[in-house]
Amino acid sequence: MSCIPNSVCKMCRRENMKLFLKADRCFTDKCSFERRPYPPGQHGQQRLKFSEFALQLREKQKTKRYYGVYEKQFALYFEKADKSRGVTGTELLKLLETRLDNVVYSLGYAGSRREARHLVKHNHFTVNGEKCNIPSYNVSKGDVVEVKQGSREITKILASIESVKKREIPAWLEADHGAFKGTVKDMPSRENVTLPVEENMIVEYYSR
Ligand code: SF4
Repeated sequence: MSCIPNSVCKMCRRENMKLFLKADRCFTDKCSFERRPYPPGQHGQQRLKFSEFALQLREKQKTKRYYGVYEKQFALYFEKADKSRGVTGTELLKLLETRLDNVVYSLGYAGSRREARHLVKHNHFTVNGEKCNIPSYNVSKGDVVEVKQGSREITKILASIESVKKREIPAWLEADHGAFKGTVKDMPSRENVTLPVEENMIVEYYSR
């Protein structure tokens, strides 16, 4: 994916937070951010003063990288959120949260959003019993996401179920790992978004 360069850990260091892009490694002491919690590059450890624009840009970049979406796609999400009746920033986060790859990751069937995207693209999941290989598909209340019968022995999926105890499943989702299923109990609210982001700054970024 062009939006995720090889040195993904640099993105966490750039955004000054753990974005959990590398599955299990993120929970070990090998995590680059744990070892070097400052931006990459020659001037990484210097104290810099950021302009308002730079702060808005960082919030946008952080959110985009956390959910693993392309620049253009992110801008389209913003456009859609802006046209909706709700609060633009909250609607934007809801659109990102309800992406199928995020749901698969959040339910514990993938070690990272990046891995979830890969698994979805390779037809390992169904939504309400129908094949769905579109990572950006937005789930709705009541949808049932399921690991396909023939994909239940995949090592990555099994390892992820085993390691999901390290993180919490969001309250708006319900996982049934025994049946390789998950249900969308409700649509996510702002409180369900665990990413520490000031979404109003993203709105300001696009309103320039
Ligand atoms: Fe980020 Fe994970 Fe790399 Fe740590 S190991 S820096 S959380 S991608």
